[in-house]
Amino acid sequence: MDQLSVMENEVPIEEPPGTWHPPHPWEDVPPAQWHDWRWQMSHRLDTVEQLAQVINLTPAEVAGLSAPDHFRVQVTPYFASLMDPDDPSCPIRQQIIPTDRELVPYDAEMSDSLNEDAHSPVPGLVHRYPDRVLMLVTTQCASYCRFCTRSRIVGDPHARFGRRDYDAQIDYIAHTPQVRDVLISGGDPLTLAPRILEDLLRRLRAIPHVEIIRIGSRVPVFLPQRITPEFVGMLQQFHPLWMNIHFNHPKEITPEVSAALTLLANAGIPLGSQTVLLAGVNDCPNVIKDLVHKLVRNRVRPYYMYQCDLVHGAGHFRTPVAVGLNIVEALRGHTSGYAVPTYVIDAPGGGGKIPIMPNYVLSQSLDRVVLRNYEGFISAYTQSDTYARHDPHTCRSCQQHLMNSGEAGQEGVLGLLNGHQLAIAPEGFERTHQRLTRVDWAPVKADLIGPAPELAALMINDYV
Ligand code: SF4
Repeated sequence: MDQLSVMENEVPIEEPPGTWHPPHPWEDVPPAQWHDWRWQMSHRLDTVEQLAQVINLTPAEVAGLSAPDHFRVQVTPYFASLMDPDDPSCPIRQQIIPTDRELVPYDAEMSDSLNEDAHSPVPGLVHRYPDRVLMLVTTQCASYCRFCTRSRIVGDPHARFGRRDYDAQIDYIAHTPQVRDVLISGGDPLTLAPRILEDLLRRLRAIPHVEIIRIGSRVPVFLPQRITPEFVGMLQQFHPLWMNIHFNHPKEITPEVSAALTLLANAGIPLGSQTVLLAGVNDCPNVIKDLVHKLVRNRVRPYYMYQCDLVHGAGHFRTPVAVGLNIVEALRGHTSGYAVPTYVIDAPGGGGKIPIMPNYVLSQSLDRVVLRNYEGFISAYTQSDTYARHDPHTCRSCQQHLMNSGEAGQEGVLGLLNGHQLAIAPEGFERTHQRLTRVDWAPVKADLIGPAPELAALMINDYV
């Protein structure tokens, strides 16, 4: 069994002292079982009847849960216990309980909005950026988010990655020396059987050019019980190992989650968070501020705040970009820089993460740059007039990097600044702008046989 298998030698967490009992309706469950991740995983809720014992379901939620072919619903008892039973706008509840709004399609939705499939040289491996890859190792999660970017593959119990996929992924990485950073994600890699995860980490660590390994997970949020000393001990063999955890609301940071984060941080695993901006859940500057403050207190660095992707079923979670900019305005300068995540849009069509921020540079001349701060204070920074400019053509480091640079086409704007390219042109640009030196309008109009019809149309339009 690949998933959820029990790690040998692991000791269930002991019953806490006192008379504490799990929350309703699990008050009869022995606390030791409640704190055992295996019990949590095997008692996940997925039916209307089970969920109706925990919250007062609305007709919209029942419709969402009853819809045929809806994205998988499954939630750990622990995370379900955080839901407000009487408030359908509860930020925890909205993330995991579908409503009929999920069934409403919208014009911009895409099944693979990040164009990951086109960047997959082998199944489950996404090589989008020059020096790093995303390794999808499972389609399973501890609970399922209604706005999941990978809902096209996640949650299907029959579509799993297996040994053959892992072999192909690792083989690709081993034969691609430009890859220095591997992000293991899915699904949620922390739901893999520990021996499988350990084996993957060991094989990656054996590749000399893989400098860092990152894990993307929501298990510390959905199933903090999984983060045991034994599990963390296994992870810490593979340093430098980083972990990015998906947090969306301050309510998610409970004492159990804090304990899990402490274990991870004490094991020397640098922790980051990523947050999806969700209408009605966290589209409030003060909610995000509370969240990032709680994260920093728990030694988690807010890393990214994502604009919601154009995913099927997530239309009602989308906010205007202005909402995200407003949140950044409310954070930058108003709190520690460590607590301010980078707001990004993962560009539809596979453009990758594009940072979005308010304009802080108001103007500039050769002598001065005019800047504004978070309070609206405007000042001028005097530029150096003695700067011996850095020349990438003579700089040894730049020349070395140029020789080692991987695939063409990824230098981007930096290539323009360094003089390696004159322009970046969109597809079709050259053809469009290959004007004939002299177009005799009349023959073109009379006889469209000569040039290709498209070009002829262009010329006609151009000259009319
Ligand atoms: S935990 Fe991540 S992969 Fe799993 S459903 Fe949520 S967003 Fe998707």
